[in-house]
Amino acid sequence: MLLVSKIREGTVIDHIPAGRALVVLKILGITGNEGFRVAVVMNVDSARMKKKDIVKLEGYYPRIEDLMKISLVAPEATINIIKDYNVVEKRKVEVPKVIEGVLRCPNPTCISRKPGEPISSRFLLVSGSPLRLKCHYCGTEIGENDVIEQLVGGGRS
Ligand SMILES: [Zn+2]
Repeated sequence: MLLVSKIREGTVIDHIPAGRALVVLKILGITGNEGFRVAVVMNVDSARMKKKDIVKLEGYYPRIEDLMKISLVAPEATINIIKDYNVVEKRKVEVPKVIEGVLRCPNPTCISRKPGEPISSRFLLVSGSPLRLKCHYCGTEIGENDVIEQLVGGGRS
């Protein structure tokens, strides 16, 4: 894997579904203007996934909530934390059983959408692959495309 040189410190996000690396960057809010080096490798061969994307972020470490968002669009992703050119920590993301506050229920009459209601959205995991989530309050289901659109599209709630 010498397509992109090794990074000294930072994070390598591996096993991203092919073609989805830019979605991952967007979810992390990384535009390329931050000043640190970003390497995106797309559609490389993978024993496990046939084709995959990889993102390398020099000097960047994701927060727990970032990992949760990554899991929604790249449920197979592995996060490698690099220090001094070595992988010091490797972990798989895990799609949480309950997702609170991150997504918006598409049902306009859902109680989680009522203005002034101190209830944040709450989705329950129905299936991980393909991704299906169900609103805890009204039962509306959303799929992978809705989730990507919400996380990436500027659709602020
Ligand atoms: Zn709802």
